[in-house]
Amino acid sequence: MAKKQSVKLAENGKASVENGKASVKNGKTRFDPMAVTWMEKYDKQISTIWKTIPESFGKLIATVAIFMLGISINGDWIGFLFHFKRQLGFYQAPVTANNSSSSFRWQDLGLEHFKLNDLWSFMWPSLLISYSLYYFIGGFIHWYYYVRQRSNPEDWKCQPKKWLTPELEKDEIFWGSLTLFLNAAMSGILTCYISNGGYSTVYYRMNEYGWIWFVLQFPVVFIYQDYTTYWLHRMYHWPFLYKHFHKLHHRYKQPTAFSVTAIHPVESVHIQLCLSAPLFFLPIHWLSFYTSAFYAYYHGIIDHSGVNFKAFWWQPWQPDAIFHDNHHQYFHVNFAFNISFWDKLHGTYRQKDRIYNEDIFYGVGKSVDAASTKELNDDIEERNLENPLAYRAEMPYKFSDKEVKKLKREHIKS
Ligand SMILES: [Zn+2]
Ligand SMILES: [Zn+2]
Repeated sequence: MAKKQSVKLAENGKASVENGKASVKNGKTRFDPMAVTWMEKYDKQISTIWKTIPESFGKLIATVAIFMLGISINGDWIGFLFHFKRQLGFYQAPVTANNSSSSFRWQDLGLEHFKLNDLWSFMWPSLLISYSLYYFIGGFIHWYYYVRQRSNPEDWKCQPKKWLTPELEKDEIFWGSLTLFLNAAMSGILTCYISNGGYSTVYYRMNEYGWIWFVLQFPVVFIYQDYTTYWLHRMYHWPFLYKHFHKLHHRYKQPTAFSVTAIHPVESVHIQLCLSAPLFFLPIHWLSFYTSAFYAYYHGIIDHSGVNFKAFWWQPWQPDAIFHDNHHQYFHVNFAFNISFWDKLHGTYRQKDRIYNEDIFYGVGKSVDAASTKELNDDIEERNLENPLAYRAEMPYKFSDKEVKKLKREHIKS
């Protein structure tokens, strides 16, 4: 472990800081509430406890932690619990006074008027659980890979030669926490509104609209949510929206599990509203909605983790984690999340003979022949930072030495 702690971090090729000392300044330990530095500080103690756990059980704990963080991050579990209780008949909508007076009075404009009675009892559990899981489980995942396996990144990391600086890690946790507040609050408000008898198209009796629709709505909701996020994401990569909103999420060229909610608040609310739309427009059983939402959040964590996770055999539509990691490394390409087919369909899937960087917009990249020498050299260097283990096939995007020579020769000629 001593060896591990003395490993210098590459940190985007600039400054280097000794592992575990991010919160130590001028010999004094600063109080730092960030889960990351806390986990780094207590690495020795955590490792000692961890060694007593059998390896296979340890892996199971890590998997369950990622799953828990994934499904709870947006506070949507509060909606799940509420609908589950209602399904079992344990929840009765509160009886609200029916004010038949048609004349407007300012004092009527309370929470009750907006069908938000008892809002706080939906808000605080939503916020508490979201934050606890974000810091503790996010911190655990960070420790499990980024601290514990710091010395062998080529075994697990998508970009093994590059790390976020401690400043950027803090920055992503700050923005991640801020947006998490909005997400969890919005989930609390929506659930409270529905629980007070507010308008919604959610239903509970499985066969209410027939069994065919009950089964069919699972892929329908999943495809709706995924295709909508593909287009929203692609839109936020248009120059104006990118520079003013989405660029914030792309500060993290080597994303980590904490990056998933580090999104501009405007963009985040926009996405959440679009994703929640089926609750108000489609006759939908609550189970199909939350299955799809949890699946998406879970993969949000996996895809931002920076770890070379692969999709399972039963998810032929699902790209491996490197797909979205590529999006962070190369910016305007691979806009889809859980169905990579959207990028193939619309021509925004990464191609070997195209180059991509933050200044090349619209998802189609630039032909290697049209690129400047600097762009070509930067791109070749960038490709060398990728981990072959993150791919199933032999490095689909890496140029061989022969190809590099040929490209450079042709480039000089033109
Ligand atoms: Zn993006
Ligand atoms: Zn991302």
